[in-house]
Amino acid sequence: MHFESSSKLFEQARGLLPGGVSSPVRAISPHPFYTARGEGPYLWDVDGNRLIDYCLAYGPMILGHRHPAVMQAVIEQLQKGWLYGTPSELEIGLAKRIAGLYPSIDMLRFVSTGTEATMAALRVARGATGKDKIIKVEGGFHGAHDSALIKAGSGATTLGIPDSRGVPADTAKNTLQVPYNDLEALEQVLRTFSGQVAGLIMEPVLGNVGPVLPHPGYLQAVRDLTREHDVLLIFDEVITGFRLSLGGAQKYYGVTPDMTTLGKIIGGGFPVGVFGGRRDLMEQVAPAGAIYQAGTFNGSPVSLAAGMATLDVLEREKILDRVNAAADGMRKALRDIVEDLCPGYSVVGIASMFKVFFGPEPHDYASALRCDKAGYFSFFRRMLESGVFLTPSQYETDFLSAAHTPEVIEATLEAFKSNLKN
Ligand SMILES: *Cc1c(COP(=O)(O)O)cnc(C)c1O
Repeated sequence: MHFESSSKLFEQARGLLPGGVSSPVRAISPHPFYTARGEGPYLWDVDGNRLIDYCLAYGPMILGHRHPAVMQAVIEQLQKGWLYGTPSELEIGLAKRIAGLYPSIDMLRFVSTGTEATMAALRVARGATGKDKIIKVEGGFHGAHDSALIKAGSGATTLGIPDSRGVPADTAKNTLQVPYNDLEALEQVLRTFSGQVAGLIMEPVLGNVGPVLPHPGYLQAVRDLTREHDVLLIFDEVITGFRLSLGGAQKYYGVTPDMTTLGKIIGGGFPVGVFGGRRDLMEQVAPAGAIYQAGTFNGSPVSLAAGMATLDVLEREKILDRVNAAADGMRKALRDIVEDLCPGYSVVGIASMFKVFFGPEPHDYASALRCDKAGYFSFFRRMLESGVFLTPSQYETDFLSAAHTPEVIEATLEAFKSNLKN
């Protein structure tokens, strides 16, 4: 396998795009591969290499690349025009379906990205409660905006420090952090900052660390504690939505937050975000209320058409049952391989999410950080040379799609076997 053309393109890109890329995670050392096309479970790069894709654009492509039903829906929409700046009937249709699936969502707004969705959800929480502080979970990712780009300070209950230059200290001080799966720490923060916290935002399953799974009862206890302390609970289901179940993690675990953010899958591979929740909260969003949110591309007809088609296929073909069963089988096989070749490692996952951790199964961000990150990256490179594109970091989740056939999975397992050895 050679990557000459990609290497040359990256040389040009480095002078034009910071780090040579349009989003940091794509800056794979020494250079990323440049994709020429995608179909089903595969990407083909500009050097003609075919790669089995488990990155799947970091989540949205649950049907695989270039799914015919999604393509058809998009083409039909394009023929009618693609951006109106007026309401379209698609909004009502998709909103109805989402509200029907998500117990927490009475009303919602369509935005263009998951980042916008969480930014708006936090504004709603603050606007509705009149409080400034929010709590997030360490290692939780909610997009690249100021309130969310905060890492934990030292210790479990300290104030956040900015994760990026350019985030005002005045903003960072309003983002508190707690470790995942740690109810004591949460209770302590809720007590310490009693009366000052608008909301707690969290990924029900930490998807941007691995995945890291909730201990039994954890999410329900978080629900109970936040209610007890009069703090709004926001589930960021940008990854888990339409994946753990059609009704997301909240349906899967039977825990209903006050607000929910969605994205990724529900755009069918086109830009989308959704924030929604209880009627009394969402009725405070402009123009119904005084909490402002707006966007030229909100409810983009192409994204909604693609999302609608994706949801149709997911429902009609019971895709999640099938993909989740395939992922169960894959995780089981991976566990056997890992036990055999590197017994200190672990295989973690749920539904269509999986990861081989180069260390014991993590239960929070701090324990995930103890994995052999450098070892993982050289394993990632070996897998790429074998034609398998995993996510390029120990801390990004790998995904399975409906297009990954048993043969494709079998070939992948063989690659795991030969590359986990060294
Ligand atoms: C990807 C992601 C986001 C951000 O979504 P974008 O569409 O990339 O802005 C927010 N929250 C979670 C949990 C995500 O995984």
